This record gives sequence, C-alpha cells and structure tokens, in this order.
Amino acid sequence: MGIGQEKGKIGPIPRGFAFSHVGPLANSAQPFNHASMTSKTSLAIEAKRDDLIALTQDLIRIPTLNPPGQDYRAICEYLDRRLSKHGFETQLIRAHGTPGDSEKYPRWNIIARREGQRGGDCVHFNSHTDVVEVGAGWTFDPFGAEISDGKIYGRGTCDMKGGLASSIIAAEAFIETHPDFVGAIEISGTADEESGGYGGVAYLAEHGFFNPAKVQHVIIPEPLHKDRICLGHRGGWWAEIETKGEIAHGSMPFLGDCAVRHMGAVLHEFEDKLFPAMAARRTDMPVVPEGARSSTMNINSIHGGQAEQADDFDGLPAHCVPDSCRIVIDRRFLAEEPLDQVRSEVTDLLEGLRASRMDFDYQLTELNAVLPSMTDRDAPVVQTVSRAIQDIMGKDPEYVASPGTYDQKHIDRIGKLKNCIAYGPGILELAHKPDEYIGIDDMVDAAKVMAAALESLLLPHA
Ligand SMILES: [Zn+2]
Repeated sequence: MGIGQEKGKIGPIPRGFAFSHVGPLANSAQPFNHASMTSKTSLAIEAKRDDLIALTQDLIRIPTLNPPGQDYRAICEYLDRRLSKHGFETQLIRAHGTPGDSEKYPRWNIIARREGQRGGDCVHFNSHTDVVEVGAGWTFDPFGAEISDGKIYGRGTCDMKGGLASSIIAAEAFIETHPDFVGAIEISGTADEESGGYGGVAYLAEHGFFNPAKVQHVIIPEPLHKDRICLGHRGGWWAEIETKGEIAHGSMPFLGDCAVRHMGAVLHEFEDKLFPAMAARRTDMPVVPEGARSSTMNINSIHGGQAEQADDFDGLPAHCVPDSCRIVIDRRFLAEEPLDQVRSEVTDLLEGLRASRMDFDYQLTELNAVLPSMTDRDAPVVQTVSRAIQDIMGKDPEYVASPGTYDQKHIDRIGKLKNCIAYGPGILELAHKPDEYIGIDDMVDAAKVMAAALESLLLPHA
C-alpha cells in the first residue's frame, strides 16, 4: 500500500478508499441533460424563498445545545410535522443507552422517507440537529434568527440548520415538480454530531438505516460551501497521558518526584520530534484549509498537582510536589498514516523517556479513535452533484476534504455505505464562532443544486 513507515514520508492514498459499487444505483451512470427540468425546479425553489427563510428561523429558535443535548425531541417533532405534510413517512428514534442519553436529555432522531412511483435508488440527506455552545462575543441574539443584509444570524445557522432547511426545500420543490419520480428520498435529523454522533448517525447505522441495500446515495449538508464537494475527512485519535510522581513537601522537592517536570519532558519531546515530523507530512487528500494537509496535534488541556479550587474559595494552596500531571491530546491524521503508526509515534517517545529519564513513569489512556474516510471521485453521488454544481453555478466544483471528522465516518464504517459526500451552504470557518450566519442566496443556490441532483438520480431517463 505504500504507507510511509519512515517518519515524514507519505505514500499514495490506500486503495481501500476506492468506491465499491453496492446496491441498485440504477440511474447514476448515464449522463443526463436535465437543464429544462432543472429550471422548473429552480423556479419552484425561488418561489419558496420565504418558506426557506422561515423554516431556517424556526429551526434556529429551537436551542438544541449540545452539551447537554437539549430540545432534540422538540426539533424532531417540528420536522415530523413539516415533513408529514409533504407525504413523508416519519420515524422518531431514541438512541437509548448512548453517551448522554437520559430521561432529562434523551437522544432523539428523526428519519423521514418519501417513496416515489416505483422502486429505484434512495437519496438520503442527513443533517445533525445539535449546535455547540454559544460562547462570548455575539452582537446578535444567538437564538433570535435575525436577518441582516441577506444573512440569517444565530447559533447553528451555518453548522448546519441552514443546510438542513435547504435540503428540505430542495426535496419539497422536487416532489412538487416531479410527482412521478422513482425511488425514494430520505431526510434525517440526527443528534450529537458535535460530540461524536454516537447518539445519532452511529446509532442509526447500527440499526440498519444506512444499509446500502436500502440507501444508495448520501448527502450531508454540512457547511462546506455551495460550490465545493467534500469527499471525506481526516482521522482523529484522542488520548490522555498521565505522568506519575511522588508527593512530598514543597520545600523539599528532592524528597519527592515532580510529575509536572516529567510532563515538561514529554512536551519537549513533542516539540523537538513529533511536531516537526507531523508538519513535514503532506496528504494527497484535498483537505481545506491548507494547513490541515499536514498531520496536526492539539494539546487540549494540561493539569498537574492540586485540583483547581472553586471560584468562591479564597484560601491559599498547600505546598506539595505534584504526584500526577495529565494532558489530553487531539491528534488528527491523514489517510496515508495508519492508526497504529499514529499511536506508536507517541508511545515510542514515552518509552524513550522511560529508558532515558530517571523515575519516569506514565500511563496512556486512549479516549477515542476515528479512521479517515474518503469517497472516490468516481462515486455516483460525487459525479451527480458535480454536474449539478456545473449546471446551477456555471463552474466546476472544488473537491475538498474536511480537517475534522463528521458523521460520514459512521455511514462509511458502520453502515458500509461509501457513496457519501458532504455538500451544503455556508462558510466552514464560521462554524462554532460568534455571530455565525448563513447567506440566504447561498441556501437558495445549494437547494437548487440538491434538487438538480435529485433530478439526475430519481427521474426515469428519456
Ligand atoms: Zn456540523
């Protein structure tokens, strides 16, 4: 496979990422000129502009914050009412027993399916309904969904309720224009993407909802922008490292063993060896932004010694040598890097310190691991959306990959469904920021592209 065993050397993307053809995929191979029909559906979408705005505003005003994962039931019920009216069969599914699921914060998901006139491919739009915390720095009400200068402002506008609204309008306009379509359309609103997707897409995939015999094409309207197709994402490996020491009186540190100094040695090794090695690697994955085409690692947190005191405690600390220091690392890796190598690079450095540094001891606890995912450029959904972007936007799409993971990982690894992309309106860099917004024109354009993709995949060809 040509994976670089030598540090800093990267081989080609493993063949394992090639698209494998599963399921009917009946209509996707032939080129199909749908220009005249596209304009009809596009006009229907234009006519729904106010509806699209109102729908987005309604979704923003349901504050589905995660953590803790609130109002999932409310947003599913809202989507249920909306989609049932348009002939979708709906199912509300609670992901019992998944992380965070409780009677107070149940993990609710919705899957809605609209059958066409007869059997054929199923196109599935998957959006997560959760949004991240608000944070400081807002000049707009984060859940007010105010409109200013052609944009709707609020937490989750861009990531990704604007994309969800666009996919709903696209599907509704397509169904109205082409009531005789074949195959099926599915729209899902899923929980917990921002915390790993275990109570959302992973749960649904485990329960067969992304079985390639049932669903053939998946579009995830994450905010990658209306003229870009996102083929997949880098991998992620999260771990906690603890260095051990021995507690003693702070006035006589030589009688103890300072775990923070040991952690200093770990960080020094990272700076000296690991960070330069990672920065030297370049992936063939089209990751954006450019800086994420190398391997990266964030040190999320560091803590050593006494626990931090509550804000209302105003006493002085006791004098002790810390016997424990912990960091959490967030390592993002490339399709060319095997997970084993990602792990062993860190453990080799730690073992090196154990051999060379007096009294060095550590414990590494893996927190989570996600493999990279890349859909092949020849996959039917990629080809179809590419043609739709050319038709609607009058330009070739840019192919990108995401620096962070999203729910494609579960559709790929658990669902075994490779024919999946992210495509949706919004600017990636606005996600999770204050004054997050979505451009209304961008949503309209993305809805037209999604509807044109439905026309390619779900209309009987002349
Ligand atoms: Zn998102």
